[in-house]
Amino acid sequence: MIRPMAERNGTSAFDLDTIVNLCKRRGFVFPSSEIYGGLGSTWDYGPYGVELKRNVKEQWWRSMVQLRDDVVGIDAAILMHPRVWEASGHLATFTDPLVDCKVCKRRFRADQLDDRDCPNNRKGCDFTPARDFNLMFKTFLGPLEDDSSVVYLRPETAQGIFVNFANVQTTSRKKLPFGIAQVGKSFRNEITPGRFVFRTREFEQMEMEFFCAPEEADRWYAYWREERRAWYERLGMRGERLRMRDHDPEELSHYSSKTVDVEYDFPWGWGELEGIAHRGDFDLTQHSEFSGKDLSYFDPAQERRFLPHVIEPAAGADRTAMAFLLDAYDEEEVRGDKRVVLHLHPLLAPVKCAVLPLSRNPDLVPSARKLADSLRQIAMIDYDDAGSIGKRYRRQDELGTPFCVTVDFDTLEDDAVTIRDRDSMAQERIPIADVGAEVLRRITQV
Ligand code: ATP
Repeated sequence: MIRPMAERNGTSAFDLDTIVNLCKRRGFVFPSSEIYGGLGSTWDYGPYGVELKRNVKEQWWRSMVQLRDDVVGIDAAILMHPRVWEASGHLATFTDPLVDCKVCKRRFRADQLDDRDCPNNRKGCDFTPARDFNLMFKTFLGPLEDDSSVVYLRPETAQGIFVNFANVQTTSRKKLPFGIAQVGKSFRNEITPGRFVFRTREFEQMEMEFFCAPEEADRWYAYWREERRAWYERLGMRGERLRMRDHDPEELSHYSSKTVDVEYDFPWGWGELEGIAHRGDFDLTQHSEFSGKDLSYFDPAQERRFLPHVIEPAAGADRTAMAFLLDAYDEEEVRGDKRVVLHLHPLLAPVKCAVLPLSRNPDLVPSARKLADSLRQIAMIDYDDAGSIGKRYRRQDELGTPFCVTVDFDTLEDDAVTIRDRDSMAQERIPIADVGAEVLRRITQV
């Protein structure tokens, strides 16, 4: 059960280090290649982090594709024909202004410097003039490392959707309006990555391109702004830590006439989770021109042919997982002790239910193991018999596990177990045969 904000202790008081430490300690996120000293701002998801991020992507896919009749999915390749990036404008304009400090030799994004002071060096700096730095990672296709074999790691998943528009439309027989969704890795050679998984050079995006008639685009733009904000709140994110920020005209990307960001109140201030952009017919126009293929759509009802307009909700899976973690984190006092708890929505929680025998007594362990194995058929389960029951409850609280089931000596007599709720800590006795249905009911009722 998601407790309303008023019942939680947490304000914005928890800083990023608290979450980074929890992630390391409990196996959510580790520095990449740590035994070699790590690789700047790259991270690996551990056993609990991978479940959390999978759940974020799964909930996005459920709500954007599987629960709708007007959106279908694809999974396009990361490597694409290099002409794609000419057509999309990424080769010419996907750049950040880069400056070097001649004194400390560090590099900065010119547009992120508050004034002309080097953040590292303060007044003693000496900057080079700003030059454009393209954020796309370059590599070579095949054994020849020459200009003809240059390809790029995609900097967004969107272009894989646009180039497949005609394939998907004809094979799915979808009529406008309809969308194509994709989840996958993207790569940007960011000049200043940082703030944990907020800005990295390799990350996962969840993007959907919604194609519609030009005169309907404003209505769909309004629809998707509402729908996307509501998604975060349905999964338990606190409304007061979310805001919608419209881009100023000078901030808009070259393809967009309107963009709004869904922002979260991170410990350092507001930061983007997702952008919803009105892309007009920019992408299909460009790809028609560069590929020579007609990407227009024929509307049989109105007997007219046109290039569809596009509304794009584009979110980041890593930032979103991190925001859910920050939002769920709480420290409470329970009977004089500190309890660290993640109030994650059960659909997002890495483990749905932990099965805990009261002790390692040989009479209890087989029943508890049998119960855990049967529950694995329906959800992600932890089995834990090490240490005191109180410590095991605390460990599961810190992982955000919404329910714990305890097998005790009475179980051997009455075939019943105790189910404990993470948020209220209330315990209830239920028949062992009902545990699966009860866990499912509790996961899906919120
Ligand atoms: P920013 O302004 O923070 O660089 P953006 O506006 O360039 O982001 P988009 O191109 O709109 O981002 O990408 C959509 C989403 O992908 C972003 O809202 C974000 O969640 C995610 N994303 C973009 N760049 C990164 C990155 N370097 N690391 C992690 N996630 C990212």
